[in-house]
Amino acid sequence: MHDDGQVIRCNLRGKFKKHFGLKKDKLYALDVAIVGDFVDINMNEDGTGTITGIDERKNYLSRKAPKIKGASYRGERLEQVVAANVDNLLVITSVDYPQFNNRVIDRIIVAGESSHINTIIVINKIDLDKEDFIQPWKELYESLGYNVFLTCAKTGKGVDEIKSILDGKVNLFWGQSGVGKSSLLNSLFGLDLSTGEISTFSNKGTHTTVTSRMIDMGGNTFVIDTPGIREIEPYGIKKEDLGHYFVEFAGYLEDCKFNTCTHHHEPGCAVIKAVEIGDISSERYESYLKLLETIEEDMIFQ
Ligand code: GDP
Ligand code: ZN
Repeated sequence: MHDDGQVIRCNLRGKFKKHFGLKKDKLYALDVAIVGDFVDINMNEDGTGTITGIDERKNYLSRKAPKIKGASYRGERLEQVVAANVDNLLVITSVDYPQFNNRVIDRIIVAGESSHINTIIVINKIDLDKEDFIQPWKELYESLGYNVFLTCAKTGKGVDEIKSILDGKVNLFWGQSGVGKSSLLNSLFGLDLSTGEISTFSNKGTHTTVTSRMIDMGGNTFVIDTPGIREIEPYGIKKEDLGHYFVEFAGYLEDCKFNTCTHHHEPGCAVIKAVEIGDISSERYESYLKLLETIEEDMIFQ
């Protein structure tokens, strides 16, 4: 989108396909310009544009590219950038259908923390919470410093409370299929998603296709919708760094006996001790261990 709000369809100049999107510490990247990027363009005679430069990103969210049979490079997973220059990452979950899953939330939190993006938790379909089991989860995540919203997109209950956080910001909405992401967006902004779309990036590389789009809500508020992105597995995190993205571990990391401690089995681990005495939630620690496993599987060059 142009500064004046006009939408211009652009192509990439060949050389940028080579030079952009590569992080210094990461070997491979699939994407070049992505939703949220600020770009310089030259106007062509036919009204289209050619991207001549991509501004430095404030931050970007990436994930492990999906595994494609035969496409892996010596077993390593590639990085795929989902969006750039994001202020808020909203993880939308539901009480049921699909069933509430705190592992998913913890995975997204790690992706958000490691990308320096503010992560917000929305638990939708609160009308289905007959057993009242969500409140303790809300309290857990709030105790860690995250904003948690309980909503019912069907009736609009709790939806307005999210709005002030989104104002004037670039907000990426992510949720597993069926959690009510579209319903929430419609309830929040009175949307018809198909008409509000301003930019769609479809990166048809050799490996995979990502589609995400940015929707202009007016008043400098933007929503990045990610209908093509089913899973966000954090990319490029080293085993010994994972603990830094579990904010409640912070007060203990220095007290581990070994400074390379992965808080898995090591003697004298202060994190494990904190879990044992109940200072760190065992559910969060379980999530940590699950993530540690996937990191070990994928990062073979560490
Ligand atoms: P998306 O795949 O995340 O975009 O989910 P949708 O917005 O398409 O919603 C999936 C289903 O959940 C639809 O049948 C919605 O009617 C339903 N749904 C959405 N929000 C709620 C809610 O707050 N409560 C209940 N009970 N159902 C909801
Ligand atoms: Zn430790």
